[in-house]
Amino acid sequence: MTATLIRGGTLVTADGRRQADLLCRDGLIAAIATDLEPAPGTQVIDAGGCFVMPGGVDPHTHLQLPMMGAVVADDFYTGTAAAAAGGTTSILDFVGPERGQSPLEALAVWRSRAEKAVIDYGFHMTVSWWGPRFSEEMETLVRDHGIASFKFFLAYKGGLMLSDEDLIAGFLRCRQLGALPQVHAENGELIAYLQAKMLAEGVTSPLGHVLSRPPQCEGEATGRAITLAEIVDVPLYVVHVSAAEAARAIAQARSRGVKVIGETLPGFLAIDDSVYRHADFDFAAGHVMSPPYRPREHQEVLWQALQAATLSTTGTDHCCFTKDQKRLGRDDFTRIPNGCGGIEDRLHVLWHLGVTGGRISPERFVALTSTNAARVFNLWPRKGALEIGSDADVIVLDPARTKTLSALAQHQNTDFSVWEGMDVQGVVVHTFSRGTHLWADGELRAERGRGRYLERAAFGPAYQGRL
Ligand SMILES: [Zn+2]
Repeated sequence: MTATLIRGGTLVTADGRRQADLLCRDGLIAAIATDLEPAPGTQVIDAGGCFVMPGGVDPHTHLQLPMMGAVVADDFYTGTAAAAAGGTTSILDFVGPERGQSPLEALAVWRSRAEKAVIDYGFHMTVSWWGPRFSEEMETLVRDHGIASFKFFLAYKGGLMLSDEDLIAGFLRCRQLGALPQVHAENGELIAYLQAKMLAEGVTSPLGHVLSRPPQCEGEATGRAITLAEIVDVPLYVVHVSAAEAARAIAQARSRGVKVIGETLPGFLAIDDSVYRHADFDFAAGHVMSPPYRPREHQEVLWQALQAATLSTTGTDHCCFTKDQKRLGRDDFTRIPNGCGGIEDRLHVLWHLGVTGGRISPERFVALTSTNAARVFNLWPRKGALEIGSDADVIVLDPARTKTLSALAQHQNTDFSVWEGMDVQGVVVHTFSRGTHLWADGELRAERGRGRYLERAAFGPAYQGRL
C-alpha cells in the first residue's frame, strides 16, 4: 500500500490545533510531527494554508431505502462516493425491517446492498415493530453483528410509530444490552389528526406537510422520549432536532444530568419553512422531509445549542429522491416521499455557515462533524481522531477556496439540491479513507466495494455520560 505525507497544514481535532505533517501508511495514521521527510515512493500533498482534519462521520443516512412507493435515489455506491467528495469517510445507515420481518434477516439484506460502498459504514437498527422476536434478536444483533443502536419512532401512526408501552419495553431492552436507543421524536397522533384536517380543508399541496407537523409536535415527543429514557435510566439519542422546543427540552434534561444527546442537520440551520409556500411543486416537494424546515427564529436557537454543546452531533438524514419520485405526491402531500439529500454537502455548509461565518471554531466543527458521532457510536478513536494508529480517514480543507453548490455539479444521484446556488467558502480538496486517496482536488476516485463494515461494541461513552 502506498504512503502519503500531508505536509505543512494545520492539524485540527476536537481538542485543539497544531502545525504538523501527517503520514498515512498502510491505511493508518503512522506519524505526526513537524518536518517529516517522505520515504521514496511516498505521495506528498502540500497542505500549506489548509486545515487537516478527521474525515466526517455521518451518523444518519438512508441509502437505497424503499419508502412510500419509491426507493431512495442514492444507493450505497453513489451515496458513499458523494460522501467522499464532500469529506465524509464513515456513515451509519439505518436498517429498516418490514413490519413483522426478522431484524437479522433485514440486516442481511442491508449488508448485501452495502457491499458496493466506497467508504466504511455501520448500521443502526430501526425498531419498525415490537414483539418478543424483535426483542430476542436484539441480543444477537448487539453481540454478534456490532449493531449497538436502535431507532424508535414516535411518529408515523399506522406505520413505524410505537406506543409508549412498547417504547418503554424497547428502552429497557436497550438498557439491558448496553445499546443506545435513538428516537424520531414527533407526535404521530397529532400529525395524523392534522393531516386529515388539512386534506378535509382541501390543502393538498406541500404546504400541508409543514402545517400538519408544527414544532410543538416535536417538542412534546422529544420531552416524552426524554422522560421515558430518564425513568428507564437509559441514555437517549435524539435524531434530527429541528425545533427550538426540542433543543430546549434536551438542554434542560442535560442540565439536570440526563444522558441525552441531540443531533441536528445543516438544513435546519439555514433553510426555513417558506420553501413550502413556493408555487413550483418540484421545489416545494423537494424540501419535504420530516421533521420539516422551521420558521427562521428556530435557527438561532439551534446555533446557540451547537455553540453551548447542548446539541452534540450533525448528520444529514440523507434520503434523496428525484423530482419525478416526489411527484408521487402531486395531488396529496401525505404521499410525497419524505427526505432530502445532503451527504455530500454537510461539511461544506457547516464550515461555511459555522466557521467562515464566525459562529463556531474549527475545533468545534471537527467535534460536530466527526469526533462526537464517533464517540457516541463507539467508533472512536479508530474514526474521528488524528492519532497514531487511527484509521487514516483524513481530509484537507482549503479555507480560501470557494464553490457553488448545485444539483448539476453534485455527485449525489438526484436532480435536486436544497442548497441550489449557495456559494460556500471553505472547500474539501482531498479526502483519504484508510489512506486511500478518494477525492483528489476535484477528481473522484471512487472504487466500488472498498468500504468496510464497521462493527460497534455496546456500552459506549453514552453510558458513562462522557459527552
Ligand atoms: Zn432519517
